[in-house]
Amino acid sequence: MSKINQCLIVGGTHGNEMSGLAVLTDTVRQGLVDKFPSINLQFDIGNPNAVTQNTRFTEEDLNRQFTLDNLNSEANTCYEAKRAREFDKKWGPKQEPTTDFVIDIHNTTSAMGPCLIILELDDFHIGLARYVKQAMPSAVILVEDEQPPASHPYLCTIGKRGVMVEVGAQPQGVCRAEISAQTIELTTHILAYCALYNAQPNCADTLAKTEAFRLTGTVYYPDNTENVSDLHQLRDWAIHSDLQDSDFTQLNKGDPIFVSLSGGVSLWEGETTYPHFINEAAYHKYNVAFATSDKFEV
Ligand SMILES: [Zn+2]
Repeated sequence: MSKINQCLIVGGTHGNEMSGLAVLTDTVRQGLVDKFPSINLQFDIGNPNAVTQNTRFTEEDLNRQFTLDNLNSEANTCYEAKRAREFDKKWGPKQEPTTDFVIDIHNTTSAMGPCLIILELDDFHIGLARYVKQAMPSAVILVEDEQPPASHPYLCTIGKRGVMVEVGAQPQGVCRAEISAQTIELTTHILAYCALYNAQPNCADTLAKTEAFRLTGTVYYPDNTENVSDLHQLRDWAIHSDLQDSDFTQLNKGDPIFVSLSGGVSLWEGETTYPHFINEAAYHKYNVAFATSDKFEV
């Protein structure tokens, strides 16, 4: 695979996730450009209208619009579908990518720490996972490779390669200093790895193996599964306090996961798993309580 000569850094794909916008400020941008002169860094705002309104999106989620179906058809005329086509024309196209690497920066309301989401495990990404974890031990590597990278509807799939930076916990619409600092640090390590990879394409072999997590599924709240968009405010169940903020901590059969307002407790009945995106605000209306993952070594 080719070197990382051109890298696009995107913030504001979700307009109420502030850390990506912190990376786009003049000072941080200039700092990265000065630090990595061998890489042609480009910067852009994913969803400018949503950023202006400090909302996740205006009509539909931009980070679900980058399917070839949408990019190759004018059928969906909502703002985010059109913005995806415009963005793809400028930085893609996904069908035949020209940008070497896309780093798309997000925040989560879940306590996932500085999390790097990788969509495939080729030599480049294995090296990236190992390098980042070694440089920043608090970082978490999450692998979503249940389908080919290009099958995902994510913005970062318009490049030859793409990853997502997902840092939390940070409430929607606000900026917490330590979360922005973690985001900038993680982004810097990713770029440092790109520079290393350009000089030593086989560097993955020289880096120590690291723990990582692989997405395995989604867990829904136990009730109000129908008409949830209307009724989610009436949900009787909440995340159990033992599980809340325990992202990437081992969850075993019999551990509590939900508590009802009437005092009932729901227990985990599956095999041992590592929950994440626990109580993510953006998934609340879809009745999603958390995602599950397996721990493995990469
Ligand atoms: Zn996001």
